Amino acid sequence: MSLTVNGETIQVPGDTTLDALIEKGTVSPTPGNLLAVDGSLLQEGGGKRFTAVLNGEPWEDGAARLPRDAALSVTDGADATEDYAEEEVSAPPTIEFSGVGAIHAYAGSGAAGKALRRTGAVSGLTVDEVVSEPVGEVVKKYNADTGGDKVVALTFDDGPWPDSTSAILDILAENDAKATFFTIGQQISGGNADVVKRAHDAGHQISSHSYDHASAGDGRGVDMGRQTPQEQVDEVLKGYEAIEAATGAAASHAFRTPGGNFSAETAQILQPHITAEIGWNIDTEDWRRPGAQAIADRIKQAKPGSIILMHDGGGDRSQTVEALRQALPYLKEQGYRFVTIDELLAYNDPAQM
Ligand SMILES: [Zn+2]
Repeated sequence: MSLTVNGETIQVPGDTTLDALIEKGTVSPTPGNLLAVDGSLLQEGGGKRFTAVLNGEPWEDGAARLPRDAALSVTDGADATEDYAEEEVSAPPTIEFSGVGAIHAYAGSGAAGKALRRTGAVSGLTVDEVVSEPVGEVVKKYNADTGGDKVVALTFDDGPWPDSTSAILDILAENDAKATFFTIGQQISGGNADVVKRAHDAGHQISSHSYDHASAGDGRGVDMGRQTPQEQVDEVLKGYEAIEAATGAAASHAFRTPGGNFSAETAQILQPHITAEIGWNIDTEDWRRPGAQAIADRIKQAKPGSIILMHDGGGDRSQTVEALRQALPYLKEQGYRFVTIDELLAYNDPAQM
């Protein structure tokens, strides 16, 4: 039969196929290359063997019989991409800090992005094709604006602790004061758990200060930023679980990081799990045990909306207890009330700060 190949009419056996024409050297298309999912060369000549058009239509089957009197054009093969598996992955919002202050609250502007992750069946390489970019989340740093209300937030870290947490609860009760306890989850057991329950029942806020003060992994007992993302998330979630097991109530999601180390990276990792990270306006440095008078003098410097950092755990806190005995009646005389962190946060919308 006759066949026109690349513009030249030739005579061929009736059962001729494109594979046969290539084998005889009638046409010699160069095969394309096989590419990995990321576009890199995986195998030279491993792509499509040829590009063929028969009577104006694509012709892909090299082993199929060619019809009589057909017009066939054959050119080089195209590159092919390896097979791949595809899954949807989400990208957390990037974090941008704005402002200055003791409260570090998510302003609610962010959204996760979406991407299709392709994993090559041959190369094992992965590439992400972005479907939607993440929208940045702003973490507003600000100090509470109470509109002149004379309120102060007393905060106690590193507890619960035998004796000192109870002693502090007694003084708070005597002064009709509410406070916030930033607890270490792994310490909430046995008698300590009973003290946390007592604090919760008395109306104090039980918040988390991590599960083990960033001791896991490479956190070195002070910095979650040294831990893996999963370890950081565990610090928060296990901290909440310990609180909820002791109090029977949901833990506040206002969190305080160990050492106050709250980088943009940590802010991004914790974003689904916390509403704010809480610093302080007045550091009493009570853990140094500078004397009850020195601690009391620092507490007395409070202004409306101040967050005051103290410790009920981590060692002998008798100076802190004695300082509170002096300072709380003094501040009450000045017209101050003592509120929890969540009550203080309710004064302002972070998006407006
Ligand atoms: Zn601490």
